[in-house]
Amino acid sequence: MSDPYPASGGATATAAPPSGANGDYYLPVGLPMPAPSPEGLGAEFWDAVKRHELLVQRCNACQAFQWGPEYVCNECHSFDLGYARVSGRGRIFSWERAWYPVHPALKDALPYIVVLVELPDAGNVRMVGNLLGDRRQEVVIGAEVEAVFEDHNDGKVPYTLVQWRRTG
Ligand SMILES: [Zn+2]
Repeated sequence: MSDPYPASGGATATAAPPSGANGDYYLPVGLPMPAPSPEGLGAEFWDAVKRHELLVQRCNACQAFQWGPEYVCNECHSFDLGYARVSGRGRIFSWERAWYPVHPALKDALPYIVVLVELPDAGNVRMVGNLLGDRRQEVVIGAEVEAVFEDHNDGKVPYTLVQWRRTG
């Protein structure tokens, strides 16, 4: 059986090396680092992505998924919330190609692609990230993507970003 997702060829193949896969970053250094809220909301998520695991908040009372992390379940108003590990496979719900440097560190990194990814195995919650690969690639709504864990270990505090790459 042939590989349905060959590594090269096709109009959507990435022309540039997939940033994050070999130690470089999709966006340049100098941007603010992400952090859990001071109260710790989201800390479990950020700890998990350092281990290359994707977690989504889930209500222990009604099992509903929600994202981003909150103190109360949006479905049943329970305060009994936890996290569930998900596959990291999703599909592009929306996207934009940014051409304006909203931060000085981005002035030489244009354009870049921001995607809103829907996670079918997590109640269709949506996460924001960058789409790795050619910055001018065609982007298709509904295209399948998977999470890529981009480790930033060169600062005072190591952290990992969740990025996305096409799989289909
Ligand atoms: Zn609930």
